[in-house]
Amino acid sequence: MRHPQRQAQAGLPKQVTIYEVGPRDGLQNESALVPTESKIDFIRRLAAAGLSVIEATSFVRPEWVPQLADADAVLAELDLNGPVSMPVLVPNERGLDRALAAGVRTIAIFGSATDSFARKNLNRSLEEQFTMFEPTVARAREHGLDVRAYVSMCFGDPWEGDVPVEQVVQVGKRLMGLGASQLSIGDSIGVGTPGHVKELIAGFVDAGIAVDDLAVHFHDTYGQALSNAYAALEAGVTTFDSSAGGLGGCPYAPGATGNLATEDLVWMLHGLGIETGISLDALVETSTWMAGVLGRPAPSGVVRALAG
Ligand code: MG
Repeated sequence: MRHPQRQAQAGLPKQVTIYEVGPRDGLQNESALVPTESKIDFIRRLAAAGLSVIEATSFVRPEWVPQLADADAVLAELDLNGPVSMPVLVPNERGLDRALAAGVRTIAIFGSATDSFARKNLNRSLEEQFTMFEPTVARAREHGLDVRAYVSMCFGDPWEGDVPVEQVVQVGKRLMGLGASQLSIGDSIGVGTPGHVKELIAGFVDAGIAVDDLAVHFHDTYGQALSNAYAALEAGVTTFDSSAGGLGGCPYAPGATGNLATEDLVWMLHGLGIETGISLDALVETSTWMAGVLGRPAPSGVVRALAG
């Protein structure tokens, strides 16, 4: 299989971590139910391809996301104490109870930078979300779990339009203040551009959040995801969210399609001489297999180019 010609650039991180979101963020947007066995197989294949962090599923209410109603069955078949970290999205304390019972080691909470999306997605105001997350994070920490906080709509909101950098920084800082160890800055509708990425990261760093504690979560809706990832790399970010094959979007955000594809990101990173620990060949094979399960081609340009 073809590989990018390596041309290392000064001033970029030597190594980055890819936080794979395909099994959760990718599959939750699929309307046709994927068999539990295929989900388990997907996660195992991703781990075998070298992904070191794989968000496995979500404990949201099954009525809201029927695709992930089998979270317990999926987790029962995975090694949650092995070398591959397998965080699970947890919306509230009830979800945390299920995560603790399943033996999950890391949870993720999903906050919003805007009031409109907090109301649509969490049924809470911007302010009320902190009250909702506080006991969940506190109890998770008491049980020794690691907590990642997502903050969504950081670069624009479908109902509010522009979102001030300062507002995003304040929300992110408060989520971290609850006890999270990593903050994933999400461009849920894919409208961000590289200068905006740098401004936002600088805003967080100025507010006292270490760049090592930041992750970025880009969507390719407007074709900006890789440019934005490069801008984040230049700003020193070393954790990147992406989805194998480019699966997924955002169910509550109109027009939000296309998570950044892990293969596209890996192609760029390897071309820059940056270590990921990932076998691009094995990853492309995995996404090609999953495209067969879903019955349509993977959105990733790299998968299309290499799978043929
Ligand atoms: Mg996403």
